[in-house]
Amino acid sequence: MKASEIRSKWLEFFASKGHKIEPSASLVPHNDPSLLWINAGMAPLKPYFDGRVIPENPRIANSQKCIRTNDIENVGKTRRHHTFFEMLGNFSIGDYFKEETITWAWEFLTSKEWIGFDPDRLSVTVYPEDEEAYKLWNEKIGIPAERIVKLEDNFWDIGEGPCGPCTEIFYDRGEAYGDLSDPECYPGGENERFLEVWNLVFSQFNHNKDGSYTPLPSKNIDTGAGLERLTSIVQNVDSNFDTDLFQPIIQRTAQMAGVKYKENADYDVALKVIADHVRTVSFAVADGVLPSNEGRGYVIRRLLRRAVRYGKVLGLNRPFMYELTEVVGDIMGVYYPDVVDKREFIEKVIRTEEERFHETLNDGLAIIEEISKAAIAQGSKQISGSDAFKLYDTYGFPFDLTEDYAAEHGLTVDREGFDAAMQEQRDRARAARHENESMKVQGGVLSDYTVKSEFVGYNDAVTESKVLA
Ligand code: ATP
Ligand code: MG
Ligand code: MG
Ligand code: MG
Repeated sequence: MKASEIRSKWLEFFASKGHKIEPSASLVPHNDPSLLWINAGMAPLKPYFDGRVIPENPRIANSQKCIRTNDIENVGKTRRHHTFFEMLGNFSIGDYFKEETITWAWEFLTSKEWIGFDPDRLSVTVYPEDEEAYKLWNEKIGIPAERIVKLEDNFWDIGEGPCGPCTEIFYDRGEAYGDLSDPECYPGGENERFLEVWNLVFSQFNHNKDGSYTPLPSKNIDTGAGLERLTSIVQNVDSNFDTDLFQPIIQRTAQMAGVKYKENADYDVALKVIADHVRTVSFAVADGVLPSNEGRGYVIRRLLRRAVRYGKVLGLNRPFMYELTEVVGDIMGVYYPDVVDKREFIEKVIRTEEERFHETLNDGLAIIEEISKAAIAQGSKQISGSDAFKLYDTYGFPFDLTEDYAAEHGLTVDREGFDAAMQEQRDRARAARHENESMKVQGGVLSDYTVKSEFVGYNDAVTESKVLA
């Protein structure tokens, strides 16, 4: 079964249960300053959840484009994380609650007519106090007690507002992916054996200002299942990257680089990161985000630059990402026609950005090489803060790349020294402005200072665009 068929089945299944199918919303949140990106299927439906808008039909299902930058370090390392992925969701706004949610999830996953997973391979986690969910899984569905894990973590609470317990469904990928004697090898633990596929959230309490919890008069359901993960199991492959959602991108990249997938671990990480990032960037550009030095645009710039760096691992020293947007369109166009319709534009944006970055990188790499050699010659194992700052300030070479380079060459970087140099620069700029109010400080150099150069968790994702200057 192709991924696109799994997506269709999801929508068809929930339509058959009386849900209205909503198209994916833009990746750019609408009227929601608390989020930088849509990061879950529920995010664009918030107005229904908090009662601002009454939906036409209280049952909704969708396949939602999501971006999670907090997972960036996992990409290419785990089998299951992406920065861009699709979350399949079903939602109830004050309509059905736990029983239907659990029963339908089970039906969809295990019925031969739908996904047809082996029920014996599924296990679930529940919130320890959620007796109701436990009973439904155990007595109604028939999951034996040893495959129902009680986890304190299974409570969705993001401060004031609706919150509640959740229950998650895991697929056991088998011994080859983890040994049960490993203390982390259980559903919800740090392992790759029990693959979390679906999270069912029961929004039943209000978290009040004073910290107390009271039952909500109208209870909601919010669920999310990763399409890429479901697909990896259905297609019986080793990771999300081996599904038809990623393989054509990986194969095209490998072909361009003249390498083979699954022959070299470093190449594989690079191929996966590139495939991941090109999807993210293509979809973000299609939704109107352009590379820039702030906010979303900066995230896109960083992702593109990161992919370019991984391209170098594969020996791709020329712009290549833009050529992959065609493949992204071929795979995703059936459900997201924008990535096909806007292909030329996406290609042009990516190509221009790649070209600019190549120039910066080539200059910077030559310089950091000299700096490192000089440091080693002096018996030091550290790139000084002032050198790192010079690379950044004069040559536009990002600090994290200096760190990466250093790590790859057994060196460290003086972060404190770098931060101090950065602060000094800011102070100087401020003093200069004071000295001569009419002096217009030109863009270029200064605009680089307006953004914090690190990715942070999606919960406080808005701080990504925090202005430092
Ligand atoms: P994990 O523990 O594997 O990081 P999660 O608990 O953070 O997942 P949820 O926030 O519960 O994920 O999201 C609901 C579903 O969306 C997950 O069960 C998973 O199928 C999918 N999902 C979440 N994050 C990602 C990601 N970065 N890449 C791909 N799929 C994801
Ligand atoms: Mg996660
Ligand atoms: Mg999880
Ligand atoms: Mg989860």
